[in-house]
Amino acid sequence: MPFDEATLVAPPKRLTIAPALVGALLYFAFATITILLTSDGRSHATVWLADAAVLAVLLSRPKSEWPLALLFGWAANLAANALTRDWAPGIVLYGGINMGQVLLAGSIMRRKSENIDILADTPTALSFLFWAGFVAPAAGAIIGSAVSVVNYGESFLPSFARWYAGNALGFVILTPFLKSWFDGGYVKAIKARLPRQRLEDTALLFFHGAVSVVTFGQSGLPLLFAPLCSLLVLAIRSGRLATQAGVVMVGVLGALAAVYHVGPVALIHRGPVFEAIFFQSYLAIMLAAALPVAALVASRAEALADAARREELLAMILENSPDAILSFDAGGRCQWVEGATDELIGLSKAICRDAPIDQLSVLVSPVLSSLSDAALATPSASHLADLHPASLPTRTLEVAVKAVLSDDRVVGTVAMIRDVTRQRAREREIARLAVTDPLTRIANRAGFEEAITRRRTTAAPACIAIFDIDDFKSINDRWGHQVGDRILKDVATVALAIAGDRHFIARLGGDEFVMLLECDLAAGWQIIERVREEVSALSAVPGAKVTISAGIAELGDDPVTAVEVADRRLYLAKRSGRNRTVADVF
Ligand code: GH3
Ligand code: MG
Repeated sequence: MPFDEATLVAPPKRLTIAPALVGALLYFAFATITILLTSDGRSHATVWLADAAVLAVLLSRPKSEWPLALLFGWAANLAANALTRDWAPGIVLYGGINMGQVLLAGSIMRRKSENIDILADTPTALSFLFWAGFVAPAAGAIIGSAVSVVNYGESFLPSFARWYAGNALGFVILTPFLKSWFDGGYVKAIKARLPRQRLEDTALLFFHGAVSVVTFGQSGLPLLFAPLCSLLVLAIRSGRLATQAGVVMVGVLGALAAVYHVGPVALIHRGPVFEAIFFQSYLAIMLAAALPVAALVASRAEALADAARREELLAMILENSPDAILSFDAGGRCQWVEGATDELIGLSKAICRDAPIDQLSVLVSPVLSSLSDAALATPSASHLADLHPASLPTRTLEVAVKAVLSDDRVVGTVAMIRDVTRQRAREREIARLAVTDPLTRIANRAGFEEAITRRRTTAAPACIAIFDIDDFKSINDRWGHQVGDRILKDVATVALAIAGDRHFIARLGGDEFVMLLECDLAAGWQIIERVREEVSALSAVPGAKVTISAGIAELGDDPVTAVEVADRRLYLAKRSGRNRTVADVF
């Protein structure tokens, strides 16, 4: 099989029945037990945990597995009802209604995202409470009670209240717990805890369990507040999943107490339906009080863990930084040191720490001190200086110091020392290229302007000579552009050699050159004449005679005028026959 085909063949879809089966088995167990314990065989059970199992399966599995989960759920419902109730054909419908309300809650909850985390944040938790704790069981209760009116002749309202209360209670207390369990959330959470924390979680769960047993195992005192306190401790110390487990504990114990007519709820003496609704409200308040606390604690713990991770990363980055970073307090004492201090300034971190800024080293202290003073005086700006270590004079270090502000108050400075040797070399090269003519490699017009500006301060005599190759166009035309280029380079070489270190030569553009001659007009005239003579002796191509014409003028105080005069004189030289230098107006 060719490679492409092999990779394109999709793996056969495997039908995963395990989750649906687990859901159905839990359903059967919960349904059988709750019917036996809380129903007279005809009425709805006052606690209905079973649907929560199938809803948890739906919320944690892909939609392709839903039909199977719902079908198994229906079958489990039928089996439990058939086993525990008086037979009536209508009980077949119960499963359908139950699965209908499960599907309703599941579809709405999954509308927002593929993998919802029910109690992760308040909006999702509220949406869950609304749809799974209110709308879905109310819808199921309307239809379910209609069936029991027809089936067993029950009256509608009490039947509705029983169904609604039982199912809402089941969904709210058990679905988040089972979903976390199915998703592996509990295993993951337990693994993420330190052994000491696990011990504490277990102890707190036991404590909460004991408080709940005491609360619901007696009917003398209305201790309903007690499990809320122990649950809050769980929420603060052990997190969301432990809180969920804590609520399930209270739910199960409270339901058992309701069955045996013990516990604080039984003190009400208002009948099983009222008591069930009361207990459910109690659990809802408990969830509403404890879950935000757990969520807040979890998000704070996450934020702290995140901050710790970031700090670790930052420490690693700073530790391996190629720069040296030092921070000083407002008095100039070094507080912390990171990065390549050893390599850059020859000081170990241990030496820098706690050292006063002016006693760090002869190399850095003066620069750091003056930049720090500047930074303290002008906190808004970065203060920079370059530094050349005496031991490595070819190296350039850049020192940048900035003030550190806290609540708009200067509390110190931070200094960053960086090796900028290569950067400076690159900058120099870029600056050089900007004033260099790429063909002849002598200065260009910008270089000439720079040289003139540099020179302005001196009062010594100087002159400007401008020269231009004669009939260069026809040389180009006759011998080609390449020969023209070579001639331009040769002329530049000749002029550069004559200019030496004292004078300055630049190509203004085309075949026009300029010389800044550091001498009076007479000496300048001699120099430019030498250039002209040597150029005319060039033999770039046999038969190609190269000559130049030049104009020369004293520089004086105004370079612009001097250039104009020299240019005019060059023009005169051209007009009067070329291959000559003109030094005055005639
Ligand atoms: P003149 O004696 O009056 O100076 O006559 P000319 O033909 O030299 O006229 P001009 O100085 O105006 O012409 C300059 C010519 O130089 C025009 C252009 O084709 C040529 N040129 C300009 N830059 C280059 C270059 O980089 N390489 C080459 N080969 N030719 C260039
Ligand atoms: Mg020319």
